[in-house]
Amino acid sequence: MRVLVVEDEVSLAKQLTAALRRAGYAVDHAADGEGADLLGHDENYDAVVLDLGLPKVDGFSLLRRWREAGRTMPVLVLTARGSWHEKVRGIDGGADDYMTKPFRMEELLARLRALIRRSTGKINPELRCGSLVLDPRSGRVLLEGTEVNLTSHEFRVLSYLMHHSQRIVSQSELTEHIYSQGFDRDSNTVEVFIARLRRKIGPTFIETVRNLGYRMKDPA
Ligand code: CA
Repeated sequence: MRVLVVEDEVSLAKQLTAALRRAGYAVDHAADGEGADLLGHDENYDAVVLDLGLPKVDGFSLLRRWREAGRTMPVLVLTARGSWHEKVRGIDGGADDYMTKPFRMEELLARLRALIRRSTGKINPELRCGSLVLDPRSGRVLLEGTEVNLTSHEFRVLSYLMHHSQRIVSQSELTEHIYSQGFDRDSNTVEVFIARLRRKIGPTFIETVRNLGYRMKDPA
């Protein structure tokens, strides 16, 4: 899962980026509206955290441009305290949720998890495939009740597949959702991550669909 943080306040941007990385996301950061505009159009994010007051292009305009261009990713806007009209304008402008500054990081993470859950059609906070359980709240993966230790990239691959377990996910789609911007992306590494995952969780949960990609499968 990959998230874009659009925030011009340096210390808050750092805190957000660090907290999201710790929570297992690939994170990109834009400090102004222009940079964010490009990223939001070109890259495929699982969610965006969008500050409204930004240099160059404000958050409302960004949101409008993205939505007009058919970009459907969930967007959580950050608004100033007491500014109820910003919340209304943000939500009416295409935002999916909002948080008022200052906020608790735990709450922001919970709201993001819910947005991603809803956008991927999941109901339960825990993702399950037979005896394999991935809990986005704790970042833990359990196989038959025993914790499996995964690297951050392995976790992102499995998390993306489990969020989209109802369909086939191509290698290039996986690549887009597990790396942050600027990371040297090689789609062959996806195969390597899949192979390592299969060694850790067993060979049968991730099915290879020839020429198309991968799909989660309950072996039971
Ligand atoms: Ca700001």
